[in-house]
Order: sequence, then structure tokens, then C-alpha cells
Amino acid sequence: MFQTIAIVGRPNVGKSSLFNRLLDKRVAIVADEPGTTRDRVTGFVSRNEEKAILVDTGGISLQDGNQIDKGIRIQVNSAIQEADALMFVVDTNSGILPLDQQIANLLRSTNKPVLLVANKADNTKRESTIAEFYKLGMGAPHPVSALHRVGIAEMVDEIFSLLPDNPEYADYPEGSIPVAIVGRPNVGKSSLINSILGEDRSLVSEIPGTTRDAIDSEFQYGDRDFILIDTAGIRRKGHISPGVEKFSVSRALQAVERSKIAVLVVDAKEYLTAQDLHVAGYVQDAYKGLVLVINKWDLAQEEELDREEIESLIRRRIQFFPDMPIRFTSAISGKGVMSIFDAIKDIEAERMKRITTSKLNRMLMDAVSAHPPATSGKKRLKIYYGTQAEVDPPTFVFFTNDPSLVHFSYKRYLENTIRKHFGFKGTAIRTLFKARSEESSAGD
Ligand code: GDP
Repeated sequence: MFQTIAIVGRPNVGKSSLFNRLLDKRVAIVADEPGTTRDRVTGFVSRNEEKAILVDTGGISLQDGNQIDKGIRIQVNSAIQEADALMFVVDTNSGILPLDQQIANLLRSTNKPVLLVANKADNTKRESTIAEFYKLGMGAPHPVSALHRVGIAEMVDEIFSLLPDNPEYADYPEGSIPVAIVGRPNVGKSSLINSILGEDRSLVSEIPGTTRDAIDSEFQYGDRDFILIDTAGIRRKGHISPGVEKFSVSRALQAVERSKIAVLVVDAKEYLTAQDLHVAGYVQDAYKGLVLVINKWDLAQEEELDREEIESLIRRRIQFFPDMPIRFTSAISGKGVMSIFDAIKDIEAERMKRITTSKLNRMLMDAVSAHPPATSGKKRLKIYYGTQAEVDPPTFVFFTNDPSLVHFSYKRYLENTIRKHFGFKGTAIRTLFKARSEESSAGD
């Protein structure tokens, strides 16, 4: 369960530089909605094994006069609401400006933990300015330099220690399948949920989620129970004001994290955007399953859309989920909607599949002899044997002479070979490589 850290502050204090400095290798998701600027981004920050969602709120600027613009106030308020902790960035070069004071007042009225970060603290002469920031009443300023990478590790340590205790995963009833419905605004997610939970189908229960004011809905379809994660978050929207959407990205990532299978909804007229691809990439990184839903298919004829053409275009772009199910739906008429859950059941079965060690090793021997690992320097990778260590997500461990010799392309080759032999359609699989000595109990 990830918590969210938001970066706030007026323009030019270096929020984006800090954001980029803190970001994990995984690419940030830029919300490409109209009305949001390119600097509204969401990514991940880590401290050792811990990970949190990091959000850059963009600039808080003064419109006319000295008042914070209303739209921006809404944006900052939503940042504060969704965040578990805030980093309030000020500029050591310029000292306290009136806008800093206003933001401090805004932040003080919440009871979220705030870390005051004095950026651009590049030299010791600035110590007196740093002391000035105590006047903001936000506690001790933490001097950092995003540019020169000074004080960053300490700041990360500090912000993680300010996060409240991590909430537990909601305890989903055994045997139920938690599903995240994600996609850009207006693709029809709420309409789909209405259609799914419509009066003719029995909504079993509403379970409060672990994210603030999230509500999960449990329902039955056929012989299975499904949990739709954070239905409240999907429905609650109305008019999306700038700045709010990027929080729905972090909300979507939370939902994916809590799911087993994600349903990525796209609009038949637009299909895949860069943001959709990022989200799909995230589903893969989190080792979940994926169903792609092309909604508003009732408009296909009118718009002269060709099913096969769209399908092949999408498959070319999401190659990392080979054989992922694609469903065409109309949330308005209900057509095709429940077929999503047939696809989910299939993926769940794939995720629970166990491949025997003997079958896996027969595959491994063939794969290695068909395409032996390249030598790197004097050393050649040797893979002795493999075993499926876990289901859900399907996890394969391969024992080798030296895991550092496993090239990314070889890992991908083995994953593709596993898929070719055993399927695992629509779900991510995980392969791990270990040195044989790490596993003493297993024989050769
Ligand atoms: P969300 O932002 O993804 O939750 O999208 P909504 O469910 O609010 O839908 C956005 C708009 O698209 C609304 O005006 C819906 O009536 C419309 N819409 C949703 N699903 C369909 C569909 O299957 N066909 C058509 N023609 N319109 C749809």
C-alpha cells in the first residue's frame, strides 16, 4: 500500500528539480489531460525497501493582487487532502516572500505532517537565511540543494519518517478477485461501474478501502465474487479541475497496487495515449493482470472504426502483455460489459497455474540449447535449473553460476519462452535469478 507525498511551493523554488532528483528510475506519469500542464507529474520515491507515490503539484502562483487564485487553491487543497505528507519547498536565495507565508498559512490549517525544505542551500553563507524560515512556523527548515545533490538523502529519510503508519491492505474475502478500473477521464469508467453494479445484478456489499474515503464494491458474477476497488474515487469527479486529475493518477496507481487484475478502459475514438501506456507499464511492473477495454463501441459504426485494426494497433503498442484480452464494450447499452469479468476469470486462472519443475526444466534445457547465453568477458552464464516458486503472480526462480551475467534480453527471452510453452495469458510473470549457492536445500 503506497502512501502519497506531495511537493508544494510557489513557482521557481525548484520543485521540479527536487521531484526529478527524488524520482525512482521508473518513469513519471504525466497527466496528459487538457487543462493540466506538463509539470503535473506522479512518480515514485524510495527509501530502501519503502516506496511512496510522489506528486509534483506544479506552481502556486498569484493571479491578480495578493490572493492565491481560486483554481490554484482548489488544486492545493486537493493535494493536501490526498497526500499523507507534504514537502513545502522554499528558496534560500530569495528568503520568505508573501506567497510563502500564504502557503504556510494554508498548510498550517491542515493536520498533515509537513516538511519544510529550504532549497538552493548551495553554500554556507546562506545559513542566516535558512534560520529566517523558522518564521514560517512550519518547524525546522531542511537545507538541501537539488542541483548539487546536497541533503537529499537526509530529506528523504525525514519525509518517510513523517508518514503515518502504513494502513493495512483491506482484508478482501477469500476467493474474491480484486479488480482496479483505470483509465483517463471521460472514457466511461463510472458508466461501466453503473452498468456492472446495475439493479439487475446484486451488489453484495460496500467495503471501506484503505485509502481515505475510498469505497470498494463487492459483487457476484457467475460463480465468483469480484471487488471493484475504489468505486467512490471513480465516480466522484463531476467537473475535473486542473490539478485534480493528477491525483486521480496516484489514486489509480493505488488501486492497481491493491488489485490482482487491472482493467484499463480506453475510448474507442482515441484508444491508447502515452498516459495509458505508462499505466499499462505500471501494471506490468507491479506484476498484475491486464484486460484492455475499448468502450463506447456503440459509436463504432458511426465513427467507421475497425475492430481488427484497432486490436492490432493496440497489441503492437502493448507488447509486454502478449495475448492480453481486449474487450469491446458499450457502457451505455451494457453490451459486452460482463465479458470483462469472463476475461478476468481466465486471467485469474492463469495466475494460479503451477508448472511442474520437470516441465519447466525440460523447457529450460531446450531454450538454452536453442539459444545459449552470450559470453560476457571470460565468464559465461550457466543456468542450472529453474522452479516455479509462487503463483499469483507466477514467479520463476532460476539458479545460475552468477546472476549478474543475466542480460535483460536473455531474461526476456526466457519469459517469452515460458509464455510460449505455458501461456500465462493476460498476466505479468516474474523471473528471478539467483546464485546456486543461495539455495542449499535444492539439489542439482
Ligand atoms: P469516466 O470519467 O471515465 O468515469 O467517464 P463517464 O462514465 O463519466 O463517461 C463520460 C461520458 O461518456 C459520459 O457523457 C457518458 O455518458 C459517456 N459514455 C460512457 N460510456 C459510453 C458508451 O459506452 N457509449 C457512449 N456513446 N457514451 C458513453
